[in-house]
Formats: sequence, structure tokens, C-alpha cells
Amino acid sequence: MKVVTTLEELRQIRQTLPNPLGFVPTMGFLHEGHLSLVRAAKAACQSVAVSIFVNPTQFGPSEDLAAYPRDLQRDLALLKAEGVDLVWAPTPEVMYPEGYQTWVEVTEVTQPLEGGMRPGHFKGVATVVAKLFNAVQPQAAFFGQKDAQQAVVIQRMVKDLNMPIELHICPIMREADGLAMSSRNTYLSPIERQAALVLSRSLKAGKSAYEAGERNAEKLKQAVLSVLEAEPLARVQYVSCADPNSLQELSGAFEQVLISMAVYVGKTRLIDNIVLK
Ligand code: AMP
Repeated sequence: MKVVTTLEELRQIRQTLPNPLGFVPTMGFLHEGHLSLVRAAKAACQSVAVSIFVNPTQFGPSEDLAAYPRDLQRDLALLKAEGVDLVWAPTPEVMYPEGYQTWVEVTEVTQPLEGGMRPGHFKGVATVVAKLFNAVQPQAAFFGQKDAQQAVVIQRMVKDLNMPIELHICPIMREADGLAMSSRNTYLSPIERQAALVLSRSLKAGKSAYEAGERNAEKLKQAVLSVLEAEPLARVQYVSCADPNSLQELSGAFEQVLISMAVYVGKTRLIDNIVLK
């Protein structure tokens, strides 16, 4: 496994890797969710590249950029064990050299949900992913459904900018008790970790209501909210029942739905979602 930080090294090694190359962009502090993407890339491609970069431009001024967990040595050991061919771990200076002024903005699908709560977040995400794609030149890229809106935004960007990259959106990996895996779970105290189960529990309640025939968006949202509100350590930022493609909020009758949420447990902001169809 080659580990590189500069663009020059990256380009040199990239040329030696057989196509199709599968690419998994990450912010590091890897868990089984990330590794599931690596395994999907291994299964579908001749070679696999992973990037590790905590992208400053997708964090808001009051967000957790400085505190974001990092452990490069551990990440590299995990990736080596998966048989990854190339790891690119650039510095912020490599990605955003002095004088940097070029941005990718996806307009409509970045407005609701996470985009509404985290202004500028998806401008940072789309820009860094476009830059990573340009540098790594993969034929396929692997993202998690955990970040449902991110997946929609990247799909839109790839289509709109004619990027010759096949996108794979992989299922959410969960702990045995249901908590969606996230690097940010490490912020949770033991009591908060227990309380955080309310997110997946509320989605399960939504799924049960849907399976019992509920097709009214407001009523479905209420079924989810009532579970969340019963947990004293949880503070709901938003719960949404949206169209899975346009991400527009649903009202009244619907057929398919993306239920998504952001919930604070203590100071930690957690997201989770489910698509019902
Ligand atoms: P991050 O390091 O948080 O930027 O995540 C890198 C990639 O891993 C993104 O495509 C995420 O959607 C994906 N990912 C994160 N958590 C999970 C999870 N629990 N299951 C599946 N994919 C995930």
C-alpha cells in the first residue's frame, strides 16, 4: 500500500494502478462504515484508492473542525489490512494553496436539510470531492447512504459536470444496537451513547408506521418525533420527510420517502436516515 501526501506523488502512483480504479473519499478516523465502502470498491474494481482529508471548507465557524478525531496510523493499518492500493492524505495547503478561489456550487438540492442547518457545508463538500476526483481520476467512487443528502448532491454534480465516474451509494452500517456508525460517536459519553439509540429507534417507528400503511407525511413525521421527544438527553434539530430524489419536503400523501434527522445528544450532533419505498 502506497501512502502519499503531495499531488506529484499521487499522479505518479496513480499511473501504475490498473483500471477501473475505485475511490473512497473519507475524513479518516475510520470505522466499519468506511471499510464497507472499501470492500465494495475492492469487489467492483481492479484497484482501490482512499483519501483521508478533514476538509476545513465543509465545517462552519462554530463546528468541530479542530476537535474532529484523527488517527492516521490506525487508519493506515486498517486500510492496509483491507488490501487498499493507495492512500492519499493531503495537507490543507495541498488542497487549498494560498490564493485559492474556485468553488463548486450545486444549487437546489443543497438548500434543505443539512444545507439549511449548515450554510456553506455542501459548497465545501462539492468542491473538495470535485478536487479529489480530479486528482485521483477514478472510474468509480463509493459513498455512504449515511450522508443521504451528500449522496444526492454528488450524484447531481457528477451528472451536471459530465464527470466520467460511476457512483455507488452503499448502505448505512450500524452498531449491533442500531446506532449508525460515525467518527463523531467517539464524542459521546456512556450515558449519551445509550441515549443516542433514540435516532435509530425513531426511524424504526417510522418504518413500522409506513409498513402498517401510513402514507401521510405529517403523520409519519409525528410518529418519528414522538419517539425522539421521549428521550430527555436528545434535542431535535430537524426531522424531515422528503422526496428521496428532489429532497423537497413532502406534505399529505406520498409513495416513497426519505426520513432524515439531525439530533443533538449532549453537545454531539448526530444524523441518521432511512428511505422507505
Ligand atoms: P466521512 O469520513 O464521515 O466523510 O465519511 C466518508 C464516507 O463514509 C462517506 O461517503 C460517508 O457517507 C460514509 N459513511 C460514514 N458513516 C457510514 C456508515 N455508518 N455506513 C456507511 N457509510 C458511512
